[in-house]
Amino acid sequence: MTNKNFMEVEFSSDSINEGFARGCVAAFCLQLNPSLDEISDIKTVVSEAVTNCVVHAYPKNRGTIKVRCEIEGRKIKIQISDGGVGIKDISAAKQPFFTTRASEERSGMGFTIMESFMDKMEVESNKAGGTVVTLYKELKANAKVAEGE
Ligand code: ATP
Ligand code: MG
Repeated sequence: MTNKNFMEVEFSSDSINEGFARGCVAAFCLQLNPSLDEISDIKTVVSEAVTNCVVHAYPKNRGTIKVRCEIEGRKIKIQISDGGVGIKDISAAKQPFFTTRASEERSGMGFTIMESFMDKMEVESNKAGGTVVTLYKELKANAKVAEGE
């Protein structure tokens, strides 16, 4: 057994819940006294991943989005899962400007942002079981205490 601290939340793929998910992960990570930049990056990547579930995973009917967050030392692992349509070609989807929804003014930068803001990103998907995005980040040595959420 390791000594990981974790939290897990499940919510409906309603776009109104994007802010909830972002705030939830940020609030959990506050125990590490992250810098304002670090907490802002974490909020951004959670928003990108959850938006993808809302927009792409469940294009018609609402489904369930799960967010799990683990902390070990100053390492954070954030996992965003859905049970939606899945991604056919993951390496294509990860490319900058790749989008299957160009008509809806999507820029195709979500995965690129997640990858560049975090230390590591893993994407797994299959048609039957939806998509799992796992993001890893090690926070810097305790700098400044972030205020608010
Ligand atoms: P942007 O994020 O800039 O608004 P985007 O969402 O199209 O545009 P990415 O977030 O990089 O760009 O995602 C790339 C593509 O990967 C999407 O267009 C979509 O086809 C696919 N995709 C991403 N996440 C999921 C998901 N959870 N389920 C199904 N398909 C997904
Ligand atoms: Mg996106």
